[in-house]
Amino acid sequence: MRKKTKLIHGGISGDPLTGAVSVPIYQVSTYKQEGIGGHKGFEYSRTGNPTRLALEELIKDLECGKAGFAFGSGMAAITAVMMLFNSGDHILLTDDVYGGTYRVMSKVLNRFGIDSTFVDTSSLENIEKEIKPNTKAIYIETPTNPLLKITDIASASEIAKKHHLLTIVDNTFSTPYWQQPLNLGADIVLHSATKYLGGHSDVVAGLVVVNSDKLAEELHFIQNSTGGVLGPHDSWLLMRGIKTLGVRMEEHEASTRRIVQFLQEYPAVKKVYYPGLESHPNHDIAKKQSGGFGGMVSFDVGSEEKADTLLRNLQYFTLAESLGAVESLISVPAKMTHASIPPERRAELGITDGLVRISVGLEDVDDLIEDLEQALNK
Ligand SMILES: *Cc1c(COP(=O)(O)O)cnc(C)c1O
Repeated sequence: MRKKTKLIHGGISGDPLTGAVSVPIYQVSTYKQEGIGGHKGFEYSRTGNPTRLALEELIKDLECGKAGFAFGSGMAAITAVMMLFNSGDHILLTDDVYGGTYRVMSKVLNRFGIDSTFVDTSSLENIEKEIKPNTKAIYIETPTNPLLKITDIASASEIAKKHHLLTIVDNTFSTPYWQQPLNLGADIVLHSATKYLGGHSDVVAGLVVVNSDKLAEELHFIQNSTGGVLGPHDSWLLMRGIKTLGVRMEEHEASTRRIVQFLQEYPAVKKVYYPGLESHPNHDIAKKQSGGFGGMVSFDVGSEEKADTLLRNLQYFTLAESLGAVESLISVPAKMTHASIPPERRAELGITDGLVRISVGLEDVDDLIEDLEQALNK
């Protein structure tokens, strides 16, 4: 099955009982048993629910793994994955991971003895240097937010294998449509499905896919024990979103290329961050490991005042957190998603007060470019 076909026919499509072409929403908590233990595969909806199962089978197929798991948010998914580890274990993470990942590692899981180090994984030497005797996993986000840094998944996985570590990849920005980390050697891939997979700014969800029966068994045990599962209605919404992932990602890609070109030619824009640019430091790796560069672009307008003027004059870009939806969104990382990072650290990372991040939506790209142009001209 090719990519776009798999989005429609992967997993469990339709309902064998009635012929319904869409998987029904099994809004149910428990299941009748014909005598003790005599159930039809479902006992209680925390353990398993048919609508959630259909979603879990779909993401498993899309990421080419052994088993999929759906959680109530991306953070619930990440936390469940971290529960695979024990007190005393150490995890190596990309330094500009999603803010919530940084927070859960440094303010929650540290209290349970799970130690973490954040390194710039876009340079492989940094990874090997920071591996300690108790390191158990390398956790990569690629591309990152907001600077769109790229880590070589295959090479990082090789390093991990050499040291008997797991490789975990947050694939939220690329989606399995463009990038399949398990095929590149990773062990676990996870998503904030709130973003591109859902795609319509109407559901918060997280997904995980693992590449072995052992990890599948362990993660199912954690999912059932800790209980952060996705409900049937949200599972259904997510499957509905995923059906159009291919056409959406293609359109996001095409529009983003046009916008990047416009930004590069616009004199007042200081720097444009996009993995599709040949000037991007890891452009070749991005090209090798992903089929597309995505719909996220960051650029520097020079100052907080200029960023503020831009935001206040835009008509079609909504000022909001989140990304990957049909609506174009814009944010100022230094004041929003990355506000909790100390200013000196932000400066080190390159997250200036004039850095603006856009998530290119599915509006007509000519309207988006005209909108950016008129607002930048103010
Ligand atoms: C949003 C996001 C998360 C967290 O997901 P939620 O669904 O908001 O809990 C994790 N990783 C990345 C890259 C994200 O963008």
